[in-house]
Parts: sequence; structure tokens; C-alpha cells
Amino acid sequence: MLVCKQCGGSNVCVQAWVNINTNEYIDEFDPKSQYCDDCSESTTTVLSQLAIGDKVEITGNIPHQLKDKSRPLLGRITGIDGYYILVKPLWQKYTCEFYPNELKKVA
Ligand SMILES: [Zn+2]
Repeated sequence: MLVCKQCGGSNVCVQAWVNINTNEYIDEFDPKSQYCDDCSESTTTVLSQLAIGDKVEITGNIPHQLKDKSRPLLGRITGIDGYYILVKPLWQKYTCEFYPNELKKVA
């Protein structure tokens, strides 16, 4: 997945040619002209390093169940659902949704 170079968000748009009658997407108009809805900046995208099975540290939007746990908060990616990355925190039975910029890959 491509994410914003500045904030890591995945809500990035590119200008495109669209058929005005069918709304069919034809092609990117200018691939270099990208806009991030998450940080409201013109940006460039980078390929997200996150994939299912990766071990990650939860660095942002920490769920209230984990607020009093010791740091770093580690988990494993169990799924990717559109903009969301599903992570099962270590020792927990549930999964939480995060944006890519709220996670850091751990080696
Ligand atoms: Zn951004």
C-alpha cells in the first residue's frame, strides 16, 4: 500500500482523467501531484512496509485497554482492511484497527 511520506496516512489522492459520462477511471493525470487528506498537504507517497504477519509497535491512537500496559506495546498484524491495519496486541485476545502511521514495524 502507498502511504503519505509525511504522516504515513493512506488517504492519499492523485489527480486523474475520468470519463465524464461513465465516471470510469482512465489514468492518472499527474502522478507527481498527490494530496494527503490525513495531513492536508501536497505530498509524495512511499510504499508502506506493513504486511500481514508483521510484528509492530503500536505508537499512536493507543486503545484504552492498553493505556496502562508497559511500553513498548507490541502486536502482530492479522489483516489489512482498506485504510485500516488490524493488529492483535501481544497477550490480548482481541484485534484493534490502526492507521499505518500509528504503527512501527519491529524487526
Ligand atoms: Zn499525510
